[in-house]
Amino acid sequence: MGGRIVELAFDFASYYLRDRIYSVVWLGVPDARLVGGEMTVEGECHCGAIQFEAQIDAEKIVVCHCTDCQVLSGTAFRTVVFTLPDGLTFSKGEPKVYVKTAQSGNPRAQGFCAECGSAIYATSVGDGPKVYGLRAGSLKQRETLVPTRQVWRSSALSWVDDVGALPAVQGQS
Ligand SMILES: [Zn+2]
Ligand SMILES: [Zn+2]
Repeated sequence: MGGRIVELAFDFASYYLRDRIYSVVWLGVPDARLVGGEMTVEGECHCGAIQFEAQIDAEKIVVCHCTDCQVLSGTAFRTVVFTLPDGLTFSKGEPKVYVKTAQSGNPRAQGFCAECGSAIYATSVGDGPKVYGLRAGSLKQRETLVPTRQVWRSSALSWVDDVGALPAVQGQS
């Protein structure tokens, strides 16, 4: 009898905790599995030719102001979500890879969709386990992936911090 009560209490505690972790921390994102800052995310390019799943560290999300990110993304900065080592699996398609020398001086492989041009990741060149810097815009969970720091602030566009104060409309005009 005592054992059964302990079992029930344990069940209740684990359900309660799991519920709180899912709803409070990840705001109900489906399929998010949490271990510390780790979670699973799904991504897709704009045309759908490339689909993938990744294990990421939600505590390592950066806004990158480097000039490569500005040119390659076509906008002011890029939001980058880092995977765990080798934590990227493609379920459909394969990205085309462009290797360039980054502002840091290191060669970086840039994966993108050859059909629609969506940026998917950047990673190191050569052998060994790879950490992928996923481009947050291609991730279904992007709303909940909040940046934790900014890098290459030295090349940030001077107006970038003022965007929140601009007059705003909910649609295009
Ligand atoms: Zn595509
Ligand atoms: Zn960058």
